[in-house]
Amino acid sequence: MKEALRRAEGSSSLTSEALAHTPSAPPPPAATDVLTRWSQLLQVLRRTLPREQFETWFRRATLAEVRDDVLLLAVQNTFARDWLANYYRDAIEDAAREVLGTPHRIEFVVSPELAAGARAQFSSVDDEARASDAAAADAADTAARGPGALGPAALAGAVRGTPAEARTREPVRTLSPSSDVVLNPSYRFDNFVVGPCNRFAHAAAVGVSEAPGKAYNPFFLHGSVGLGKTHLLQSLCYALLERDAQTNILFLSCETFVNHFIAALENGDLQKFRSKYRNVDVLVVDDIHILANKERTQEEFFHTFNALHSAGKQIVLSSDSPPKDIPTLQGRLVSRFKWGLVTEIEQPCYETRMAILKRKSRERGSELPDEVARLLAERIDTNIRELEGSVTKILGYAALARAPVSPELAREALRELFTVRHGAPSLDDLMRELTEHFNVKPADLQSRRRTNAVAYPRQVGMYIARRITRMSLEEIGGFFGGRDHSTVLYAIQKIENLVREDAGLGEQIRQLEQRIRSTVS
Ligand code: ADP
Ligand code: MG
Repeated sequence: MKEALRRAEGSSSLTSEALAHTPSAPPPPAATDVLTRWSQLLQVLRRTLPREQFETWFRRATLAEVRDDVLLLAVQNTFARDWLANYYRDAIEDAAREVLGTPHRIEFVVSPELAAGARAQFSSVDDEARASDAAAADAADTAARGPGALGPAALAGAVRGTPAEARTREPVRTLSPSSDVVLNPSYRFDNFVVGPCNRFAHAAAVGVSEAPGKAYNPFFLHGSVGLGKTHLLQSLCYALLERDAQTNILFLSCETFVNHFIAALENGDLQKFRSKYRNVDVLVVDDIHILANKERTQEEFFHTFNALHSAGKQIVLSSDSPPKDIPTLQGRLVSRFKWGLVTEIEQPCYETRMAILKRKSRERGSELPDEVARLLAERIDTNIRELEGSVTKILGYAALARAPVSPELAREALRELFTVRHGAPSLDDLMRELTEHFNVKPADLQSRRRTNAVAYPRQVGMYIARRITRMSLEEIGGFFGGRDHSTVLYAIQKIENLVREDAGLGEQIRQLEQRIRSTVS
């Protein structure tokens, strides 16, 4: 089995070498033919596409096969396949017609090995072209192109960009092709708002990007959802690539790691799996808490961790909780995760929320007036993603309504935030509505009295409290005059029966509950 595996791996690396055209492993004649074709195609594509598009999408692609009327391209992953198929099919078909003289259909196969082997060949075509005719290449970059051949980014550039701009556009920074994300241009240190809640996390991430594998290894960033972990991780990667574009960064969600591992187990490909994970400069695993309860994957991750760490490679992890709170995480992983730097990203304070609202709205072309920003900052206090969503909603609403952004408009645009969605109403909200609806006093509801005039409203109160808060039966009982949990349970069951059996009463109670939910102070 092992031998077979080794042979399979050997042959795949031979293929890569053949494709890379190294002198030590001369490719067989058929392969040479395919290689020549690919070089020719690359030359045409290089001439007809903007350089950064060409470099991004064709660096890790290669020609796997030429059939009668089909060209089979090997690409590094499904993302590349979809992107090439959607945006570059026409360009490749045109190039094929030019090179081969007849129309060919383009098909794709996902093969990271073949695609990785393609790099050297790509570089030689690219270097040659640059050296031999830099001026012509530049001119070609700016030549008019059919929009069908380009991706959205290129389209934006083609529509807006002047030739000079096209050349000064940011260079492409890419993660390892096995990564399951591409770097998001809006996740940079530059547009991360720093406040007391995240200052340390931010500084630590910058520190890691300046000395990978040294000071903070692993770098473990934790915090609850929507607080900017992925943003910081991506910023870190981008900064690393800015320092050295060749840095091989594998960026994955933990889920992908788990899936790859399971697939490798099933296919008996563990060796390949291991070499993929262990031959990188930086391994980033987002949402590592997913390892909870996955014993075998934890085991594997432990070995991956050790191999990388002892080779001085940087490991970056994010999680929704600190290492010790990840359920069933093996002790030895917990202790390793704490070897380097464990940092928390906390909930943003009011000032930071204001700054984020201002910044995000400015980025979207229209800064929120203070009054509106305050309104949002007061209500959305636990999740920056939601804060961001609210800005998008309000600005979109204002644009549609062709109205200026005002507090009224904000309330209208975010109705549900100002009603149901803002967390759970408090028991005080409940008490206020209950006493008004039933015309009783709070003291009565919290007293020992059991007359029907107070017992029924009290029972309705308990029923609604259970539905709209996360309080336990004991806590609810405590609030309603120190009653025990069985009394509360009895009350809830009684009202449930009433609601079920009496449509009119049920409707009244439902409306009361709705009112309480929407009168959150
Ligand atoms: P997490 O990974 O912690 O769930 P994300 O990194 O996905 O959170 O952040 C959610 C959204 O909030 C992203 O759009 C991100 O850009 C934004 N965000 C979070 N923190 C900040 C910050 N300090 N400054 C600017 N944007 C932020
Ligand atoms: Mg995230």
